[in-house]
Amino acid sequence: MTAILLDGAAIARQVYSQLEQRVAALNNQGVRPGLAAVEVGGNPASLVYIRNKVRACAAAGLHSEVHEFTADCPESVLLAALDKLNRNPLVHGIIVQLPLPRGLEAGRIVQSIAIEKDVDGFGWRNLGALIAGHPLFVPGTPLGVMTMLDHAGIAIEGRNAVVVGRSTVVGKPMALLLIARGATVTVCNSKTVDLGDFTRRADILVVAAGRAGLVTGDMVKPGAVVIDVGINRRADGKLVGDVAFESVRAKASYLTPVPGGVGPMTVAMLIANTVSAAERSIAATRPASATR
Ligand code: NAP
Repeated sequence: MTAILLDGAAIARQVYSQLEQRVAALNNQGVRPGLAAVEVGGNPASLVYIRNKVRACAAAGLHSEVHEFTADCPESVLLAALDKLNRNPLVHGIIVQLPLPRGLEAGRIVQSIAIEKDVDGFGWRNLGALIAGHPLFVPGTPLGVMTMLDHAGIAIEGRNAVVVGRSTVVGKPMALLLIARGATVTVCNSKTVDLGDFTRRADILVVAAGRAGLVTGDMVKPGAVVIDVGINRRADGKLVGDVAFESVRAKASYLTPVPGGVGPMTVAMLIANTVSAAERSIAATRPASATR
């Protein structure tokens, strides 16, 4: 078997084209959706990610602004900047690019983003609402994975799903979304004994560990759907995922490439969340009589 590659860039283009009408409708009401990105410490990878998001905003007709701070910036300055963005009506979505430099507590800083502007969905109130099944915003990477599965018509209900990785931004919300759709979900982590014993049971295998080549073909059930979230830079500069591409491609039915798989979907979901935030902001300011 040779897996069908799930082309995240192509699916993302469809997402953007579906957003066009919604952005135009907002423009007709005098609203341009706006995203503010906060970057601290000038981490080169973070700057690349932010540049991609700014480009995606421009292409989709969104306003974007980047607020950069030095690594020694006191937490109080960051919190004050976020408070100002929370109150800025031109900004509908706010993200804090992670990781933050040592000494800054990401949890506390991300929690200060207003829930209705938390378009990364990393705030505890959004994550808690995800557990309850009513999130305002779902984190972009797992939401992008679900969108790719649906786009390919892959059944989720009743399937065995294994998620490798239990981070707050990928693994845990990924597991919650799969549970909500009726999959039987196992979540593995770095302490899991005999990872292959679990991954071989997966009809849908999502790997988000940040370890190049962690999952090899012998760890995959024939015909499984394999989603490679990992992004690792090899010594030669090449970007690779967590999955040994060739050996897994020979076993799986579907596989996401790296790059060009989950990455473009993550950005597209962030843009979609920002458009939703702008739509909600209008609904929130509309007089009660106008909503009847
Ligand atoms: P993270 O916070 O470092 O979490 C990694 C998770 O993988 C942890 O739960 C860790 O277990 C687990 N893990 C590590 N080694 C393992 C092993 N040998 N066996 C089983 N589990 C193992 O990373 P993250 O933020 O979730 O990101 C994961 C990867 O996805 C990274 O490569 C990141 O760059 C990539 N990523 C890609 C996108 C995208 O858009 N494509 C978006 C976000 C992240 P413990 O909890 O026990 O340490």
